[in-house]
Amino acid sequence: MKFCPNCEKVLFPTNNRLYCKGCSLYYVLKNGNLVVKNDNNLLSEINLAGFDNNNSKAEYKKKSDKDTSNSNPQKTSYLTFFPYEHFRSDQERIIKQIEKASLEKKNSLLAAPNGTGKTIIALSAILPLAIKKNLKILYLCRTHSQNTRIIKELTKISTHLRNNDINIKVSGLSIRGRNEMCLNEVLLGLKLNPRESMAVCSDLRKNRSCKFFLNLIKKRDQYDNLIN
Ligand code: SF4
Ligand SMILES: [Zn+2]
Repeated sequence: MKFCPNCEKVLFPTNNRLYCKGCSLYYVLKNGNLVVKNDNNLLSEINLAGFDNNNSKAEYKKKSDKDTSNSNPQKTSYLTFFPYEHFRSDQERIIKQIEKASLEKKNSLLAAPNGTGKTIIALSAILPLAIKKNLKILYLCRTHSQNTRIIKELTKISTHLRNNDINIKVSGLSIRGRNEMCLNEVLLGLKLNPRESMAVCSDLRKNRSCKFFLNLIKKRDQYDNLIN
């Protein structure tokens, strides 16, 4: 007998895979390890496995919800976005709580140690709401490496959606300090510290001698729309 690596419930054998009723996930054995392998034949496999009627219906409904989510981005859950094969311990529970809170317009506060996977927890939990309501997520962080991490996870989610033929596009924009984002060769050539860069940038803008700033002014309406 095999047990789900996520929730430790018993896995039910279907015709060629093992199914966890708790997580609604299918597994196959690869080199002695359980690996998630979901595909579209959920109902037929559940019926073959001889689950009772109620369960079949329940599971079928879940799958049909998921099917709709592929074509209709209004119906998604954290499972649509979570790009990894397994949840780390407690990850799924926390994601569910944050997802629920966000749908109820409540705040969540999570303090968790390194390695909990907080970034992917936050993104998987709030992307369903963001997609449903066509909202943008503003993700604030303290360091450049945290910033990089978020873009990495977002890229992973995007690849995951594409690989699973889920018709949802996610994209992100990383905004950093002037020294990392400035395009002006004059300022970059000076190799200044952030405070000095700020002063030079301010002069360049005041004198209207930064072409990038002038471009920005020209396109301000467009960019305002992006931010709002
Ligand atoms: S306004 Fe010009 S100088 Fe200032 S940060 Fe932008 S590109 Fe650099
Ligand atoms: Zn499970």
